[in-house]
Amino acid sequence: NITCKKLTKKYADLQVVHGFDLEVKDEEFIVFLGPSGCGKSTILRMLAGLEDITTGTLEIGGRDVTTAEPGERGVAMVFQNYALYPHMTVRKNIAFGLRRSGLSAEEIDTKVNDVVQMLALAPYLDRKPAQMSGGQQQRVAIARAIVKTPEVFLFDEPLSNLDAKLRQQLRVEIAKLHKKLKTTTVFVTHDQLEAMTLADRIVLMNAGNAEQIGTPQEIYTKPRTLFVADFIGSPS
Ligand code: ATP
Ligand code: MG
Repeated sequence: NITCKKLTKKYADLQVVHGFDLEVKDEEFIVFLGPSGCGKSTILRMLAGLEDITTGTLEIGGRDVTTAEPGERGVAMVFQNYALYPHMTVRKNIAFGLRRSGLSAEEIDTKVNDVVQMLALAPYLDRKPAQMSGGQQQRVAIARAIVKTPEVFLFDEPLSNLDAKLRQQLRVEIAKLHKKLKTTTVFVTHDQLEAMTLADRIVLMNAGNAEQIGTPQEIYTKPRTLFVADFIGSPS
């Protein structure tokens, strides 16, 4: 589980997150939705430890990780631009997540092979990222996150760079993976269909805070503010 208490973020004099509170249950799939610049990525990066938390506290799995290093939080993140290592093969990219795990080379091989099966990446193991399509690269990035068996997955618009068909395919794959692995997930998107179909609960963000938090059903049938009604009423 994840507990965000009164998180704030300031970049120099600019405050972009204003006392954000959220309680994520174990196995829950949370989707952040909201207009550009409202602070979705900033909050995700604070959860990942890629951005300092200005004030407030963050707990993951009952541990206070407000100031913990990224590698010590039990999280794995997937980015919009895949962020694979261009000089490494697919196999090495995936195994890289386990380099500090203390596992033997054999154990690492077994784990890598498991996720390779899960994401149908076997044909590509010896390729470099540049020799693969965007969808294939993003499946590698997801495999690299899964292989670490983190407590929490963080996804920042992982499907936004893909064409509509691939986006749908990968959305379905992510839903299946979540059903199987049940890893607690925070997923940022602009895409309302993704939010509707993936989320247990949606966090609808506005200007650095949550405007409404609820199930897709609640958000769509009982928008609590005009902002929410407008946002979900407009094509994203
Ligand atoms: P998008 O949907 O476009 O990805 P977002 O909701 O993810 O938007 P953030 O990237 O979290 O938005 O940005 C929130 C605010 O913080 C924006 O006003 C942005 O300009 C500002 N910001 C983000 N990163 C920095 C930074 N490194 N330095 C200064 N300001 C920043
Ligand atoms: Mg963003």
